[in-house]
Amino acid sequence: MVLMSRLLRLLPAGLTALALAACGAPASEEDGAAPRVVAAFYPLEWAAGQVLGGHGSLSGLTTPGTEAHDLELTAQQIASLSDADLVLHLAEFQPAVDDAIAQSGPASVMDVSEVVGLIPAAAAHVDDHADEAGDGGEHADETDEHADEADDHGDLDPHFWQDPARMATLVEELGARLAELDPDNAADYTANAAATAEELQALDEEFTTGLATCERREFVTTHAAFGYLADRYDLTEIGISGVNPDAEPSPARIAEIHEEAARHGITTIFFETLTSDAVATSIAGDLGLETAVLDPLEGVTDNSPGTDYPSIMRANLTALRSANDCA
Ligand SMILES: [Zn+2]
Repeated sequence: MVLMSRLLRLLPAGLTALALAACGAPASEEDGAAPRVVAAFYPLEWAAGQVLGGHGSLSGLTTPGTEAHDLELTAQQIASLSDADLVLHLAEFQPAVDDAIAQSGPASVMDVSEVVGLIPAAAAHVDDHADEAGDGGEHADETDEHADEADDHGDLDPHFWQDPARMATLVEELGARLAELDPDNAADYTANAAATAEELQALDEEFTTGLATCERREFVTTHAAFGYLADRYDLTEIGISGVNPDAEPSPARIAEIHEEAARHGITTIFFETLTSDAVATSIAGDLGLETAVLDPLEGVTDNSPGTDYPSIMRANLTALRSANDCA
């Protein structure tokens, strides 16, 4: 209310009616308190959309098809944050969003990293010790040598949404937060959150079952975005470049990938849809291997192997099962 009257005072009279129309409650059954939610990037936006159902409004800061890492915001996007009732972001993943939040002071902010629990980055690098089979994934002490490749986002891996169980935790928390913000619709938010969490748990079980029995547990990706998936389903991700998709691999790293691929009987070099597949194609060509898409789910476009979070996750599962010859 205060924001609204402040806004109206700033506008020329002719624009006032327009502003009122634009800011009014979208549907007659809404009470005007319907929350305006802004989500920093796609998986957060999907989660918020599921929980909101038809209530309130939702917008995303990362335009589909742009790289989520190192996002830059327009002045208009930054200004939009001050009107938001709730802003969802992952601290340190997109520094521009962190700065914009600090600058515009939205009513309520959820830093998702405080909800889902992040794991260290760079567990992907297995070069020196990967030859002991079945070592239980104890790679934590291998991060030091390669920390320089991986710490654009600090020491933690941001890609938590590759773990459906963490997504379920996020959705439950969103249900509670939205119920607090908009008590009139609390029952809907709670029910939507419970239904979505159940769907995510079913997805988690599909991954557990689908990846239980495979010829090999290692997989090679260009962008090391699948550490959470590897961690949850006991796979080993071999990332060609680090957690940041912009990093170019060194010739030494490419030589290591050749060696790893041969050692583990890798069939497929995975690449993603939002960045160039040149590195994957070149390595696969050198080794006579296939390339395939494993989508990091940082944005959905026409080139994505699905239309939303669950369908793209399922496409990734199918691709992994095929590459690793899972029963
Ligand atoms: Zn990423």
